[in-house]
Amino acid sequence: MNTDEIKQKLTEEKALLERELSDVAVADSENPGGYVGKEPDMNDENPADVLEEGHEQEVFSRNQAITNDLEMRLVNINKALDALENHRYGVCNKGGEDHPIEEDRLEANPAATTCKDHM
Ligand SMILES: [Zn+2]
Repeated sequence: MNTDEIKQKLTEEKALLERELSDVAVADSENPGGYVGKEPDMNDENPADVLEEGHEQEVFSRNQAITNDLEMRLVNINKALDALENHRYGVCNKGGEDHPIEEDRLEANPAATTCKDHM
C-alpha cells in the first residue's frame, strides 16, 4: 500500500470538504473545529423568496443538513490521516481484534475505518 498516495488523496478530499463547508457553514464558536449551518443572509435574498413563508427556515435546515454530512466526512478523513501518522491506517478494530480492511474498500473510500464485515 502506497501511504504517500493515500495521504495525498485524503488531503485533497479534506481541502475539498473544507471549501464546501465554507459555502454552507460557519465555524462553531462553542465547539472548536466544529461547524454550524449558515443562517440565510437576508440581504442576499431575492425579495420574492423572502415573502415565501418558511423559506428562511428551509434554507437554514438545508445548510445544517449539508453541514452535518460534510462534517462527518471531514471527521473520518481526519481520523484516517491520524491513523496514517500512527501506522494504524487500514486497520479495523471492531470486534475486539485488529484485522486489515480490504484494499478494494479502501480504494473506494480511503477514509474507511472499518472492514466490510463491520461497516
Ligand atoms: Zn472489521
